[in-house]
Amino acid sequence: MLDIIIIGGGIVGIATAFRLQAAYPGMGIAVVEKEDRLAAHQTGRNSGVIHAGIYYAPGSMKAEFSRRGLTETIAFCKAHGLPFEQCGKLLVATSPEEMTRMDALHRRAAENGLHLPRLDATALREREPNISGIGAILSASTGIADYTAIVRKMAELFVAGGGTIHTSSPVGDIQEEASCVSVSLIDGRTLKARHLIVCGGLQADRLAEMCGVGGDFSIVPFKGEYYRLAARHDDVVKHLIYPIPDPTLPFLGIHLTRMIGGYVTVGPNAVLSMAREKYGKLGMDIRDMKAMVAFPGFWRTCFGHMRSGIDETANSAFRSRYLKACRKYLPTLELEDLTPHPSGIRAQAVMRDGSMVHDFLIRTTSRTIHVCNAPSPAATSAIPIADYITALAAETFALAPRGLGQNAEEIADVAGRI
Ligand SMILES: Cc1cc2nc3c(=O)[nH]c(=O)nc-3n(C[C@H](O)[C@H](O)[C@H](O)COP(=O)(O)OP(=O)(O)OC[C@H]3O[C@@H](n4cnc5c(N)ncnc54)[C@H](O)[C@@H]3O)c2cc1C
Repeated sequence: MLDIIIIGGGIVGIATAFRLQAAYPGMGIAVVEKEDRLAAHQTGRNSGVIHAGIYYAPGSMKAEFSRRGLTETIAFCKAHGLPFEQCGKLLVATSPEEMTRMDALHRRAAENGLHLPRLDATALREREPNISGIGAILSASTGIADYTAIVRKMAELFVAGGGTIHTSSPVGDIQEEASCVSVSLIDGRTLKARHLIVCGGLQADRLAEMCGVGGDFSIVPFKGEYYRLAARHDDVVKHLIYPIPDPTLPFLGIHLTRMIGGYVTVGPNAVLSMAREKYGKLGMDIRDMKAMVAFPGFWRTCFGHMRSGIDETANSAFRSRYLKACRKYLPTLELEDLTPHPSGIRAQAVMRDGSMVHDFLIRTTSRTIHVCNAPSPAATSAIPIADYITALAAETFALAPRGLGQNAEEIADVAGRI
């Protein structure tokens, strides 16, 4: 029997496997992933930004873990020769109303310990001659990375350390018993372990329900569509260019992102998706749609965000509208500069009352831990989330201390806060 099974081969599952093994060398750990490769969903389909922790509610897991995650992600990339770049980010206001929201955001950043310089229109133009705006906040430490490469490297180290990864292994059922957890795969195999950690992303609610810790929330999928800018725009910006976000929404708005690889994308928008894991424009899944419309919180969210929902859908349907949104910052952009780029789908937990869960949400039973909500910036925060889960596992599962390994200091630090 294994010590721990981890469901999910995205960055949260793989980082957890890697850090847990580092804390408990020799422990029998297996990762189970339904796709034929790792990072197939959110982790491999995102903006690749290493966030600095500006926006999030002070004291929240997001605020703390993204701040630490930035340092840890860069340290991991440096240690293993993976590409990253701290190109910095500008949050740009384009109207007096956005300037007011920018003031609030600046205060929020300070509450999170980030004392960021502000730029007026002239200073903005000096730094970014192609960008128009009337003011901006500069976050110099924000960066970019390739999260798929990070996952592959962590997985390689995990396997070299004695861990096992089963791809093409969809989990169909979970039974928590008195002395173990049985994980049944769709192909008929059953894996048994003393404990289970579930990092199922877009399927988190279904997997939580199998263990009796779901039902009160549902994953609502929000698609983020991107365009790649024509090669003539590869050097159009030096920083990442972000809008001032609507504080009531968990999404950051369409941004210009310099990507590892040297090109620039614009996106992602946030449109309701008719499927959790189908990425085509008309991707639909009857089971996902039925689950969505049957959940009362879904309708409450829709009514609560009707205006932005209509805007986002119209921007998605008409490239010319999307262009207009981008031209607010980059007036020289033309329709022919926008080439569709692979989209991603965000797993956003919504409660029965229609409220979107803003922070990371992690629940436990006596033998299982479930990551129920891990939206952006969970890629940035994956290593601190993994350390948090390791500390939580030590406590919840009463793991025998086999001598905390390399990451003992970080684990002890988060353990003190559980
Ligand atoms: C468009 C977009 C842009 C984003 N931009 C950023 C960004 O710039 N910076 C940032 O920090 N974050 C960003 N994020 C968020 C970040 O990508 C996610 O928070 C993070 O990848 C979540 O990782 P995860 O491991 O929880 O989920 P996932 O990567 O989705 O992995 C979950 C895994 O579980 C597997 N699984 C599910 N059910 C089963 C089952 N029954 N059996 C076996 N396996 C199963 C899935 O196949 C999947 O591989 C973005 C997300 C999106 C969608």
